[in-house]
Amino acid sequence: MPVIIGGVEPFTTVDFPGRLAAVLFCLGCPLRCPYCHNPELQDFKGKPFIPWERFVEFLDSRKKLLDGIVFSGGEPLAQPDLYESLKTVKDMGFSVGLHTSGVNVERLKQVLPLLDWVGFDVKTLFEHYERRIPHSHAETVEKCLDLLIESKIEMEVRTTLDPRIISASELRHLADILTQKGVKTYALQEYRPHPSEQNPPSSSEITAFFSDLALLSDLKKRFTHFIVRRA
Ligand code: SF4
Repeated sequence: MPVIIGGVEPFTTVDFPGRLAAVLFCLGCPLRCPYCHNPELQDFKGKPFIPWERFVEFLDSRKKLLDGIVFSGGEPLAQPDLYESLKTVKDMGFSVGLHTSGVNVERLKQVLPLLDWVGFDVKTLFEHYERRIPHSHAETVEKCLDLLIESKIEMEVRTTLDPRIISASELRHLADILTQKGVKTYALQEYRPHPSEQNPPSSSEITAFFSDLALLSDLKKRFTHFIVRRA
């Protein structure tokens, strides 16, 4: 059975570096990040957006217009038949990107040979993961990250700056860990509270990371590519 599709972004220039791409949002995510920007995609039993066959027809009509397809979510690594769907897309001639939070080491190993680029979420220090990100497993996330680094696949590690999940000092410590592991490209992403979120942090707490120029300059020095994404 192919992946269950929760949504499609037919055209993007920002989700797959250097490629004109479409994004397929997989339905279902085992994690419950407090800042989740796609809560409607968390439920594995939610309503599929379109059947897989329709998506393949869409790809067929875009062969000359798109370079790549990004599998995002939800969480693509939570889809049991991710490999088959990636292979179909790859065999149609598209580059394949993956956005993941690293929830399944074996599935990542399986799909690794098909991937051209990965955007990998590291949400907080590994020692705080399980307390701050419900249903997460820190060891699995770290193993997935190590596997990607070893594979030398093109990748970006990114952290969404939710002050409930990571502080400025923890962010510095996390940057140390990532550089020691060999991460070259690191992106900070502004957290935007979802309209359905109850009691999100204040906007001054959210934006404080971005006015801390000493922090940003310190992080910038540690990575070959350092990206700041404001909402
Ligand atoms: S990993 Fe992504 S989709 Fe899953 S709960 Fe966290 S933010 Fe939402």
